[in-house]
Amino acid sequence: MSFFDKMKSGLHQVKGKAQHTVEITKLYTQIQVKKKDLQQHFAKLGETVYQSSGMGKQKAESVDDHQDQMVKLCREIAHMEEEIEELEQEMHRLKGDKQCRCGSYVPQEALFCSRCGHKFAAAYGQGDAIIIDPIRDRPNDDRQGPGPT
Ligand SMILES: [Zn+2]
Repeated sequence: MSFFDKMKSGLHQVKGKAQHTVEITKLYTQIQVKKKDLQQHFAKLGETVYQSSGMGKQKAESVDDHQDQMVKLCREIAHMEEEIEELEQEMHRLKGDKQCRCGSYVPQEALFCSRCGHKFAAAYGQGDAIIIDPIRDRPNDDRQGPGPT
């Protein structure tokens, strides 16, 4: 690779990385907004449960209204959780994180999972390179065959 090619590819990488960072930040912001919205839904759900108990000072509406409200909130919460998970997966994919068997995401270079303590195999390909050694069995085969003429 010529010097200029190297420089060009280097520039390309930097540009790609910057673009990635922008997308990751965008996703992160979206996730935070949705999580806040989710918390508000949980709060509203709790309030509805309390009101439906009849113990509150506020004059209780009909029980049916409360139940409808609760079902609606639960459905919305379930939908939001799905959306957040999708966004988080996309963000981890962009960051190049790997997923542990416990389901949590950790940086590609991590040796242990921060949640369950699982120890990861050696980074990228190193392990494979040690295991694969096909040349070792060859000499035996050659001995059985006809010798060099
Ligand atoms: Zn784990």
